[in-house]
Amino acid sequence: MRINESTIANDEGVRATWAEVNLSRLRANLEAIRAWVHPAKIMPILKANAYGHGLAEVAKFLSPLVDYIGVAVLEEGILLRRLGVRAPILVLGGIWGNQIPKYLEYDLTLTAPSVERLEQIDAAAQQMGVRARVHLKIDTGMERIGVHYYNAHTLQEAAVRCCRNVEVEGIFSHFANADAADLSHARLQLERFQEVLHFYERHSLPMPPLRHMANSAALLSLPESHFDMVRPGILLYGVYPSPHTPRRIEVRPALAWKSRVVYFKVVQPGHPVSYGSTWQSDHPVRVVTVPVGYGDGYFRSMSNRAQVLIRGRRYPQIGRICMDQMMVNIESDSAYNGDEVILLGEADGEQISAEDLAEWAGTIPYEILTNINTRVPRLYIQDSQ
Ligand SMILES: *Cc1c(COP(=O)(O)O)cnc(C)c1O
Repeated sequence: MRINESTIANDEGVRATWAEVNLSRLRANLEAIRAWVHPAKIMPILKANAYGHGLAEVAKFLSPLVDYIGVAVLEEGILLRRLGVRAPILVLGGIWGNQIPKYLEYDLTLTAPSVERLEQIDAAAQQMGVRARVHLKIDTGMERIGVHYYNAHTLQEAAVRCCRNVEVEGIFSHFANADAADLSHARLQLERFQEVLHFYERHSLPMPPLRHMANSAALLSLPESHFDMVRPGILLYGVYPSPHTPRRIEVRPALAWKSRVVYFKVVQPGHPVSYGSTWQSDHPVRVVTVPVGYGDGYFRSMSNRAQVLIRGRRYPQIGRICMDQMMVNIESDSAYNGDEVILLGEADGEQISAEDLAEWAGTIPYEILTNINTRVPRLYIQDSQ
């Protein structure tokens, strides 16, 4: 393993809790996706700090390997440009008028979700003497941003009519239920999008070159939705979107979350552990303290449910998870100050997955990853050769 410390605040070896991001796995996951969706292009989604993996490092590593990059908000796009990322960047979320010049200044592709916004983009581009690159956003059943599929022609017509300062490079939509066991709503959305695209044939107008719709779940379960480009998020990071998604390609988690034992004690019966005294033993047990808590993004709702790996064995977390620390019951086993504690990851054939943490916390793997706080330094590694 080669260690790249460039982005952490030189505290590797000091901080006891860290997240290890394996860039080689990100690349392998990307290649697995590429082989499956070929010849469609790939727009990895790097929003929310690259799903907790660290926006800057992930973008620097992936941008030379991909066709496009997707982020959620303007600030993420600006950050990437300031880092020198040259790949085209689409900002997927909604915009308000004031932001448009910033998009243009930083050469970011805009999502045009309405006629009004498209006209504002055109006007701003004209004023600045530039050409804006936009993707039209069609709402086929998410009821989030985008023009409704049954009114889409108004946006499509406006894009043809109004906008000399706008290049309509793409048109896209987003699934609400592609990760469900029942794909009927996803199929309905796909049909609606296809119908919207027929507009161009009916009017003998050129199709925007980048039609895209598939998130990770649709990319796996609905190959008809690949179109010209796919937008994988969670799958790129090596996590399947839901238990219902067919695992048609193999990906592996890129992130491991680790800490170290910082204290050891024997807890006697009748002496409950942590805030609220929610846990106690009826016999003496060995308990270690681990310096991670909900202030790092280790959900408090996992108290008395989570498990960790120490020396390749699984142990239960006990008592309330505190802001900065938590306790683990190792019963009569041994553990020493400084021993590695795996919160998320694998060792000696044992694994704790983002899905496990999500189940303990009552959420989805997405939230487990994006919730890992900035207090947790990211350490980037690559498999050698
Ligand atoms: C977040 C997002 C994605 C990626 O979703 P995954 O389920 O992580 O693959 C794709 N498209 C849009 C519009 C998104 O907001």
